[in-house]
Amino acid sequence: MFKEQLKLNQPFVSGFLESALIPGKEKLANAYLLTGNNTIDMYFLALETARILNCSHKTENCACNNCQWIRQNRHPAVITISPIDYIHANKDGKPKTVITIDQARFLKKALSVSSQYHRVIVFTDAKEGKEYESKAEQLWGNYKDFIAPPVLENSNSERESWLPLPLSYKTFHSEPANALLKIIEEPPPRVTFFFFTKDKEDMISTIVSRSQAISLKYNPENYIEDQVFENFFGNFPPNSAAEGILYSEKLIELAKENSLTLEEAINRLERYLILQIRQASGNKEYCLRLINQVKSIQKALIELKSYVNPQAVADSLAISLASRR
Ligand SMILES: [Zn+2]
Repeated sequence: MFKEQLKLNQPFVSGFLESALIPGKEKLANAYLLTGNNTIDMYFLALETARILNCSHKTENCACNNCQWIRQNRHPAVITISPIDYIHANKDGKPKTVITIDQARFLKKALSVSSQYHRVIVFTDAKEGKEYESKAEQLWGNYKDFIAPPVLENSNSERESWLPLPLSYKTFHSEPANALLKIIEEPPPRVTFFFFTKDKEDMISTIVSRSQAISLKYNPENYIEDQVFENFFGNFPPNSAAEGILYSEKLIELAKENSLTLEEAINRLERYLILQIRQASGNKEYCLRLINQVKSIQKALIELKSYVNPQAVADSLAISLASRR
């Protein structure tokens, strides 16, 4: 059903959603909370879900009107709500830096009118403008032929620099979120919500509790800074105590090079390991080892907070990681 490219990039979540979309056996949740750093894949997943739901053939390369319109992202069944999309709902019709209560109210009103389509509502942060052009080009990359940014109302011009980004507390406040709770819990027939965020912790808990959360495969290329760390952690953890000391020196160097404190660098290491754990959930032994390593990291972070000498913390962390291989 889903586009092959998407299945390759996000095998787990594609398979999961596809199995909820089997014709005659649909078992979709009211709302999905997609987590991770790959918002382009999230957007593709939401659009493919909308396409399958509104297509009569349910095939990958269908060219019916509904499929074509959804690929061009000009179909009334797909509603993208971000601080810079769906802005006609705002009193002044202008883009904002947050999702507004006006947008939430307007959406509720729009959904109260019945539709012949299965409507998919996407909540995401988004940015566009000259400074996002190169990033947009890099991230949209091979997807350009399969999906497109949402069209602007009353305009046919392409939004070359439009980028979907994860929502957080900063962009999705409790007021608009709470205005939507009832409709998320009991949506009208044939309405499905998607929320994009980096981590469950970044999203207001009332939305999390009403959604089915699915974490996407992490894309290290999305964050250049993360990539530096990922390359470094490729040789991780150290094999012996002696290597551990070398490793601790490198960690301190890397923190300096990236203008991070040692605490921040160790935090990145922790985040990297947690992502590894999420992706390796099928491999129990490997997960347990990673969990023990995370424990060592948490101990190091506590020591740093208690003003233990940073070099000593890095050394004992590296040795402890070596022993937990
Ligand atoms: Zn079709």
